[in-house]
Amino acid sequence: MTSAAKVYLVGAGPGDPDLITLKAVKALQQAEVVLVDDLVNPALLAHCPQARIVPVGKRGGCKSTPQHFINRMLVALAEQGQVVVRLKGGDPFVFGRGGEEMLALRAANIPYEIIPGMTSGLGACASMEVPVTHRGYNHGVTLITGHTQDGEPLPWQALVETNTTLVIYMGMQHLPEITRNLINAGMSADMPCMVVENGTREHQRAVTSSLQAIPYLAHTQGLKSPAIIVVGEVVKLAKNSQQEQDWQENLQTWLNVASAA
Ligand code: SAH
Repeated sequence: MTSAAKVYLVGAGPGDPDLITLKAVKALQQAEVVLVDDLVNPALLAHCPQARIVPVGKRGGCKSTPQHFINRMLVALAEQGQVVVRLKGGDPFVFGRGGEEMLALRAANIPYEIIPGMTSGLGACASMEVPVTHRGYNHGVTLITGHTQDGEPLPWQALVETNTTLVIYMGMQHLPEITRNLINAGMSADMPCMVVENGTREHQRAVTSSLQAIPYLAHTQGLKSPAIIVVGEVVKLAKNSQQEQDWQENLQTWLNVASAA
């Protein structure tokens, strides 16, 4: 290994290419190889025209590069003496498997550095003008996955009792179950809730509604992954838009249909 060899585990931020850190840009400018996830905005690759780009995307249900292979690739490239950037959507340590990559590098004695990024859950809330914590509304914020690897159920009761804003990643496939589980665990069916698709990107879309109506609205609007689900009183503070009024009308239609059934 040459003395320059190093692996940077880098957060690319939530999607808006301006929401990457200066430190991440500096690492990209020095990189010889960049391993990129598919949630990363490709516009960011403009910072590293000199580098070889290796896409290693892994989106739920699609063909992807296995994690152990990525770990091995990071080690092997560094052992060849290369400066490597592993560029991940959001923050590398928030549902990004950055911890596993770090442990593989540690075990192989490879120099590495962690460069944090703005996680998409917080970026998506900010873009909707939703403060994740707000005095008088909650006691904090919980970042949680809606899709456990082992299929183990989430502790719904405990989540409801925390009185925190719930920011749910990877939950779109299970949105109806998630809302049902929260209501069954005692959360009000009227609790404000929003889904933000492609948060902070140009083509961001979002719906805000109540916990009970959000699966219907997200479905009729065709919202898909990548999206963040946010549950909590703070969603009341989301910015107003014409679209939102349309959703309120949709909600009314839905409630009429539901009460007639
Ligand atoms: N490390 C990433 C999360 C990776 S897990 C981070 O810190 O943001 C993948 C999940 O992140 C997706 O299923 C989705 O829930 C969320 N996600 C990533 N980018 C997103 C975006 N621009 N808008 C909304 N959700 C996003």
